[in-house]
Formats: sequence, C-alpha cells, structure tokens
Amino acid sequence: MLVMILSACGQDAGNESANNGESQDNDDNGLKIGLSVSDLTLERWQHDRDFFVEKAEELGAEVLVQSADGDEAKQLSQIQNMLSQDIDALVIIAINSDALSTVVDQAKAEGISVLSYDRLINGTDIDAYVSFDNVRVGEMQAEYLVEQVPTGKYFLMGGSPTDNNAKLFREGQMNILQPLVDSGDIEVVGDQWAKNWDANEALKIMENALTANKNEIDAVVASNDSTAGGAIQALEAQGLDGKVAISGQDADLAGVQRIAEGTQTMTIYKPIKEIATKSAEVAVQLAKGEEVTADSSINNGTMDVPFIKLDPIQVNKDNLVETVINDGFHTFDDVYKNIPESERPASP
Ligand code: BGC
Repeated sequence: MLVMILSACGQDAGNESANNGESQDNDDNGLKIGLSVSDLTLERWQHDRDFFVEKAEELGAEVLVQSADGDEAKQLSQIQNMLSQDIDALVIIAINSDALSTVVDQAKAEGISVLSYDRLINGTDIDAYVSFDNVRVGEMQAEYLVEQVPTGKYFLMGGSPTDNNAKLFREGQMNILQPLVDSGDIEVVGDQWAKNWDANEALKIMENALTANKNEIDAVVASNDSTAGGAIQALEAQGLDGKVAISGQDADLAGVQRIAEGTQTMTIYKPIKEIATKSAEVAVQLAKGEEVTADSSINNGTMDVPFIKLDPIQVNKDNLVETVINDGFHTFDDVYKNIPESERPASP
C-alpha cells in the first residue's frame, strides 16, 4: 500500500501541553482547533461533533465548534472568524465542496493546516482527508436493493448537489445499476437531488415521482437516512411504505427504527466514533506540526490529497443487533422501541 507522509505546517510545533478545554490565550501555547460543521440539525453530525471534541480534548486541544446550519455563506464567515482566533488547525465539514478554496488558501497562507472531514474540499491545497470509502457506500446501497428487487422500476434520490460525497454515492450506485439498466432488468424512472439532504425536499420529490409514475415504483435508491425518511413519508401517504424497497445511510436512530419496523430496507453504518477519533488525532498532529500518514490518496482537482479511508458497514433487519447495537451506537430498546416484545429478536 502507498504510504504518504505529509508534513504539517501548523503552529505550536512540539507543544505537548494538555488543555482541559478551558479558553487559552495566545501566550500559553495551548493547541486550538477550529471545527466547522455543515449542519448540526442533522443527527449524524451531532455524533461526529461529540466524539471529535471528546478525543481532541483528551489529547490536550481546545476545540471551537461552529455549525453553519446548511448555509454556505454562514460557513464561510464562520471559518473566517475562526482564522482570527489563533487556531492551529482547521477541520471542515464542507457544505459546498467547490466553494471553500479561497478561505482554505487564506488559512494555509497563515500557516494553519486544514483537514477535510468526511467531505472532500476541491480545488485547493488540503493537508489530509478522513472519510469512508464513499463509492463503496453507493455500491452497497444498490447491491442490497438489487438483491431484493432484481427487476423493476427504480427511482434515484440523490443527496445535496453541492456535496462531493453525494456524487461519489451516485457513482457507486451506478456501478451496480448500469449493467442492469443496459440489460433491461431495471428501468430508472427518475433521478433527483435533495438540496441540503433535506427530508422535506425529499418528501416533495417523492410525491411528484409517485404521481408522475402512477405509483409504479419498485425501489428507491435514497442516498441517506434523512432523505429516505422524507421519501418514506410520501410512500406512506399512498399506502406503499414497506412495499417499496428503499435504501439509506448513517444508521440514524429513526432510520434503524424504520428498518426494524419494515418500512426501510437497509442503511449504511459508518462508525462515527472511528472517523471522529481518527480526525481528532490527525488534527492534533497537524496542529503540532507533526507528520501524518495516510494509506491512500484522492485527487481534488489540485492535488492528490492524503486520504485516510475507513470502511462502511451494510445494515439490514437481520444484522441490526450485531452491527449498530453491539457497537453501542444505539441501544436495543431504542432500536426496537416500536416493535412488540414478542416480535423482537433476542436481546444481546
Ligand atoms: C455524509 C452522509 C450524510 C450526508 C448528510 C454526507 O456528506 O457522508 O453520511 O448523510 O452528508 O448530512
């Protein structure tokens, strides 16, 4: 495997001093990391924030967290504001993967290392990218649906059109679907993208798709659990929930509950503790000016960015216990909350 070594240019090189999360001033050499989150109103990112802050603080860094609530302009101004607060490393969960090059260039010019968290930032110099194998996520979603529904009409519910990951998920989905479209087994009857991964947006898209197709849709390739949730509401209004196969991603509590209830077919579990903890470790290393190693790379249009790539896990009604529950991501009682005790599997 390719081993990439990158040397960070963060401040406070060699500083090992611990920080208990209290505000540090300029002179005490405490490490300070800025974490710019795309949207904390989505369940997934709250887990990321919590695990990241916990690990970074354990490693002696203070973390400034800001949520842009899905607003691109807000994310830009929040990052600019962080740059004026003596941060040593900047960690960004981008809303628009193509709109951050200027502010990242500014950070780099000030000697602040930048880590692209979960979503790749394009067109600029990034120190490290920590994410899951996002093409594989899309392949796993389509593979599972195709197993359940080998022939029929498919609707594609993409994620946010400005999120680089949404494009990678679609690429993976089409790796599996295209040969079946070519052979005539599957017909793609529609293809839409939900702005900001918004559930209401997905609800409207699904309502229109059902009307346009006279309710004749056999499977929905939804790219995550928030959009799946919206789509399932539209299916439910037509009495089709549980009858139309539908994918998801994130193993959100609502998503895994729907899997237990039978209205959602599968989700993808990406152990958030793993990405958040790894990112916190890398961010602290970058902040200290230490070397970071990555086992692969990904091109962002400007450079091959060192990519720390993690593996996603496929979740369906048969492996809920051995995946998200055994991993402590959700409790057995929460997942099976709406299922009568007599119909639940054995509690681990
Ligand atoms: C993440 C998904 C998430 C989506 C919406 C994507 O970039 O990879 O896990 O569901 O954003 O927040």
